[in-house]
Amino acid sequence: MRETFLPYGRQWLDEDDIQAVVEVLKSDYLTTGPKILEFEKAFAKYVGAKYAVAIANGTAALHAACFAAGIKQGDEVITTPITFAASANSVLYCGGQPVFADIDPDTYNIDPDEIRKSITSKTKAIIPVHFAGQPCEMEEIGKIAKEYNLIVIEDAAHAVGADYKGKLIGGISDMTTFSFHPVKHITTGEGGMITTSDEEVYKKLLLFRSHGITRDRELLIEEYQGPWYYEQLELGYNYRMSDIQAALGLSQLNKADKFIKRRREIAGMYTLVFGEEVNLITPLQQEGCNSSWHLYVIRLNFKNLKCSQRDFFEYLIQENIGVNIHYIPVYKHPFYRKNGYRDVICPNSEQFYSACISLPIFPKMTNEDIKDVILSVKKVLKKNEK
Ligand SMILES: *Cc1c(COP(=O)(O)O)cnc(C)c1O
Repeated sequence: MRETFLPYGRQWLDEDDIQAVVEVLKSDYLTTGPKILEFEKAFAKYVGAKYAVAIANGTAALHAACFAAGIKQGDEVITTPITFAASANSVLYCGGQPVFADIDPDTYNIDPDEIRKSITSKTKAIIPVHFAGQPCEMEEIGKIAKEYNLIVIEDAAHAVGADYKGKLIGGISDMTTFSFHPVKHITTGEGGMITTSDEEVYKKLLLFRSHGITRDRELLIEEYQGPWYYEQLELGYNYRMSDIQAALGLSQLNKADKFIKRRREIAGMYTLVFGEEVNLITPLQQEGCNSSWHLYVIRLNFKNLKCSQRDFFEYLIQENIGVNIHYIPVYKHPFYRKNGYRDVICPNSEQFYSACISLPIFPKMTNEDIKDVILSVKKVLKKNEK
C-alpha cells in the first residue's frame, strides 16, 4: 500500500507559472489590466471561437451564459442530473427552471432522445455537460436546438481540449463555459471562461461580468456627458477575473496540450488493464470523439461482488487512493427535493450513481502512482469477488 494519499485530481504548476504571476504582482494592474484580454484572445484561439470572456469561476461562467441567453422566470432549461450542481443552479439564479433529462447508460452524457421528451413550450435552452471530458452528441443536440429554436450552452468544465468530430469543444454552440478550478485541466486558482462567436452575446457577457455597467458609447441610452461617464444598463455582478489569475491562465494554457496528452496516456493505461476485469466496466469512448479525461470513472458490477459501493470506496481510501463519486444526481439534493423535484427519477442516472467510482487522474501522476491505483483496485476486486 502506498504511504501518501493520492488525490483524484490536482494542479500542475511550474516555475514559469509562478514567474508569470510575480510579473503581474510587480506591474501596475492587478485587475482590469492587459492580461485579461491577452488570456481571452489566446483561449478563444485555442478552442476556435471568435470571443472569450474571462470570469471569476466556472459557476459565474454558467450564470453569465444563462443571463446572455435571456433565461428568466417561466423559462425551462434542460440539463443532465449527472453533473456538478452549478450546471442547474445557474438556471435558478436567473429565475428559470432546470429540467433534468436522463443520461445515456453507456456514455453517461445527456441522452438526446431524453432531451426531446423533456421539451415543452417553455423550453428556452439546453445545457449539455461533457461528462468526464467526453463530448456529448453535439450534432444531434444542435439539430434539436434548431428544430425548437433553443439556445445551447455547453458546460465544458471537464472538456478543455476535448474534440468532437475534429472540432475542439468551445467553438461549436452558442456559448461554452469552462472552469479553471485546480482539479480541472488548467488552473487560475478560481476562474472560468465563456466562449462564443456571436458579437451580441459577447457584449452581454461583458456587461454582466462587471455590474451591467458600460463605457461603450455605442451602448449608451442617455446622452454622453463627458469622459467620466458610464451607465448601468443591466443588473450585473462583479464577476471579474484578476490579472494575476489571467497571467497564470495564459501560462497554463501553453501547457494544456501536454497536460491533456498525459491524461489520455493515463486513461489508456487504466483501460488496458481494467478492460480485462469482468466486474469492472471501463468508460466507453464515442466514435469520432477524443475525451480530454477530466475524470476516469469506472462502474462496478456489485451484483457479483461481496461488498457495497461504499465498502469499495472506503477500501480504496484505506489504500491511500483518493477515489471520488461523480456525481450524486442533482435533483436528489435536499434543496432540489424541497423545491419541486421530490418525484423526479432518472433511472439511468440513479443506476450509474449506484455503481460509479472516479479513480485518480491528473497529469502530474507518476507511473508509480498509476501502478498503485491499478494494484489497489485489483486487490480490492479480487478480495470481494464472489
Ligand atoms: C467545476 C464545475 C463547475 C463549476 O466550476 P467552478 O469553477 O468550480 O465554479 C461547473 N460544472 C461542472 C460540470 C464542473 O465540473
